[in-house]
Amino acid sequence: MAEKGNTNMEKIVSLAKRRGFVYQGSEIYGGLAGTWDYGPLGVVLKNNIKNIWWKMFVEDREDMYGLDAAILMNGKVWEASGHVGGFSDPLVECKKCKKRFRADHVEGDECPSCGGELGEEREFNMMFETKVGAMEDSSSVSYLRPETAQGIFVNFKNVVDSFHPKLPFGIGQIGKAFRNEITPRDFIFRVRELEQMEVEYFVKEDTLKEHFEKWQKIMWDFIDIIGLDKEHVHELEVEAEDRAHYSKRTIDFEFDFPFGRKELYGLAYRTDYDLKKHQEHSKVSLEYLDEEAKEKIIPHVIEPSLGVDRTFLAILADAYREDEMGGETRTYLKLSPTIAPVKIAVFPLLKNKPELVAKAREIFAELKKQFGKVQFDDNGNVGKRYRRQDEIGTPYCVTVDYDTIEKDNTVTVRDRDTGEQERVSVEDLVQFFLDKKMI
Ligand code: ATP
Repeated sequence: MAEKGNTNMEKIVSLAKRRGFVYQGSEIYGGLAGTWDYGPLGVVLKNNIKNIWWKMFVEDREDMYGLDAAILMNGKVWEASGHVGGFSDPLVECKKCKKRFRADHVEGDECPSCGGELGEEREFNMMFETKVGAMEDSSSVSYLRPETAQGIFVNFKNVVDSFHPKLPFGIGQIGKAFRNEITPRDFIFRVRELEQMEVEYFVKEDTLKEHFEKWQKIMWDFIDIIGLDKEHVHELEVEAEDRAHYSKRTIDFEFDFPFGRKELYGLAYRTDYDLKKHQEHSKVSLEYLDEEAKEKIIPHVIEPSLGVDRTFLAILADAYREDEMGGETRTYLKLSPTIAPVKIAVFPLLKNKPELVAKAREIFAELKKQFGKVQFDDNGNVGKRYRRQDEIGTPYCVTVDYDTIEKDNTVTVRDRDTGEQERVSVEDLVQFFLDKKMI
């Protein structure tokens, strides 16, 4: 039987690299702290996460609108939103070795690296500053966005004018965000270039509680659909002093990562803070005409904010397994079929037998048409192929052998988790996998 998940990070990082999920950013130059590159299988897994989110949070809902705003925004956006003044973490520097740490991550008053004395705590703004255009004056200063949310707030009026939505409605977007984290660490958990999936959901203030709870439930549904063990996810009601400057209530969804229980997602009640600030600073009315009450209001906002990279890591951490099969230790990823980068692998038993290869290719084409993420694999002996597919989390392998073409038109279907094999008729194969809820 399979052993329980959560094992140490080194094994996960090593598998992620070996199998082409995640590579260190700029690796041949010694890397760049806080950056990681997603390899061929990582891209597919990441896209699966984003596609499921997009479908659940945007596409399948009549009250949601999608957006893809620019990463670079007018510098005034970040003054209005409070990020220039307040998007910072507390920093301490060691007087001896000069290393810098996030003050709230250091225990005691000694340098975690050399034991030296730590200096005074100060605030460090985490936005990456940049200059836009050829002019070198203050008007050219901008920032790489530290959250996707502001792109939504500044387009609130555009969406209202184009679509005239009735409250409550929301705008969702997926995109990159950048934070100059003081100490990026724990693989893709705390990075400097990250990807977020965010919704700003606009409501009347008096319906707030009801909608907050609805989004809380949708977040749990998402956690379930991507295959995370719900037992490893915990809600934390964030205390007032720990909340972001714009928030009146925040629930963190924490996950039991191999390095401890840490924030996976946030659900925040941002009040009418952002729209009011942008109205004040831009001098453009962001009021919404409530036709029922015949009055103009600034809607209140609920924000489910989900990080793609942390989702990716939680999925890997939960799925990583080691067990014994056929007298050998094996490693496999127990990924949900909805999220696995390869859903089915199709093998000819032998590579150098054209009749087996031709039949396997035919079956592969049929399954690929139906399920998309199907791989043809004839590299190495079958045992090796199974190990490789186990390591990338492929739920099923289909093998074409001589019985298939000479006897009864059946193939072997092997189950990743149990290693058990059954013979399934080629005609029934698509239905067999449809029943397994692969998509
Ligand atoms: P933390 O307290 O861990 O720094 P945060 O509270 O600043 O996180 P939010 O501002 O709530 O994070 O960001 C929303 C989501 O974006 C987080 O729940 C997380 O999934 C993701 N996220 C934020 N910062 C990072 C980062 N540096 N690396 C990876 N993902 C991140």
